[in-house]
Amino acid sequence: MWNFEEFAESAGVTVEELTAYVADSQRGEAPVVRRRPPGELADRLRLRELIAKGGMTPESYRDFLRAYLAEGTRLHHPAYLAHQTASPDFPAALADFVHGAINNPMNIYEMGASAATVEFEVLRWMLDKVGFPAGGGVLTHGGSLANLTAMLAARARVAPEAWERGVPDDLVILAPPSAHYSISRAVSILGLGQRAIVPLETDELGRIDPARLPDISGRRVMALVAAACATGTGLHDDLLAIGAWCRERGVWFHVDGAHGASALLSDRHAHLLDGIELADSVIWDAHKMLRASALTAAVLVRRESDLDAAFRQEASYLFYGEQGFDQIRRTVECTKAELGLKIFLNLAWRGEQGLGDYVASRYDTAHRFWELAGERPGFTLPYEPESNIVCFRYGDGDQAVIRERLMSDGTFHLTSTELAGVRHLRVTVMAPATDDATLTALLDEIEAVSG
Ligand SMILES: *Cc1c(COP(=O)(O)O)cnc(C)c1O
Repeated sequence: MWNFEEFAESAGVTVEELTAYVADSQRGEAPVVRRRPPGELADRLRLRELIAKGGMTPESYRDFLRAYLAEGTRLHHPAYLAHQTASPDFPAALADFVHGAINNPMNIYEMGASAATVEFEVLRWMLDKVGFPAGGGVLTHGGSLANLTAMLAARARVAPEAWERGVPDDLVILAPPSAHYSISRAVSILGLGQRAIVPLETDELGRIDPARLPDISGRRVMALVAAACATGTGLHDDLLAIGAWCRERGVWFHVDGAHGASALLSDRHAHLLDGIELADSVIWDAHKMLRASALTAAVLVRRESDLDAAFRQEASYLFYGEQGFDQIRRTVECTKAELGLKIFLNLAWRGEQGLGDYVASRYDTAHRFWELAGERPGFTLPYEPESNIVCFRYGDGDQAVIRERLMSDGTFHLTSTELAGVRHLRVTVMAPATDDATLTALLDEIEAVSG
């Protein structure tokens, strides 16, 4: 049984160490990223000794935690400009802590009524934001599973026989080459094979060209996939035009809003999602722009029954009688974490307005980076950013070398991506601490390491 004194002391240690960690990170006082080789790190953290002998105490836990936090990547750091992973807010962190202690795997209602009810209400809020008044949804462990789930719902609509008999070989899916890789994975996982992907025509930045959508006569189309926004560029497809095209032809319209759906909370940015209400399915990650830790994502469908049709299952110990409140019928996962609590506590603390202001401020800061870089010679910026993702080049050299130099110093953490076959540096503004001074320092540093 729990020793409460030990628990309280250790929890106190955790709060103290995390406070110092986040404070140092926000002030930019530690390297944003550290990547020691795993062998060296295992020694430093005494992992093998602790695994073999056990016996951790609140004191040795403090030493361990301090060393653990000192390594790795600091998402609260102003110079964290890399992957689209949330800089978590503390209410969501509290939810993770509560879940860790009570462990209510609420995919069946009897295993966590409060957790399941929180999920229902969070989903109701998300459905309302997207514009699906008669819709349904479910939270999954991440956007990749959410995309897979949405594609299953689409398949059940177009080819309901597939669950029993296997996938017919005339099914196709329409997606641009810029679609997130979880879409093409879902296609193969679902048994369609990559040959079923009909690549959509795009402009040079990877956006679907609504004027050049394909002739689909004689084809059974499972879905068309559009992005809001695209992972690489942060640019949005024209959902209104593409959605209208799908409506006219009865094609399932899937909007991958993993990153960008959170812009629905900002009055100044919600227009980027115009047309999302035409979708049949939408995914929305809360561990990107809603400041929740990984993973928590939503699958939302316009007609609730479409989600119920996605899966069929037999497991007599789980599925019998009235299953009204059980989300397990709608997920790949059997056991599931209390994902809704993270979103709920962030909303309850900050309000929809607070989260919307966060999104707007990060989008504005990215736009500011684009302006500042554009004022300097040597920087090439292929487009004006629409979100908090900006792609650019400095000079004509190998951009990956610039990135590696910044990262090995631990001064900045950014990513890179290919646009029309050319490697670009890529900045994603996630941390609330990133400001104009950070951006200027980054531009100076890029010039310095390239000189
Ligand atoms: C991040 C992302 C995904 C995948 O989400 P995970 O939660 O990382 O699995 C899918 N689509 C888009 C557009 C994304 O940006």
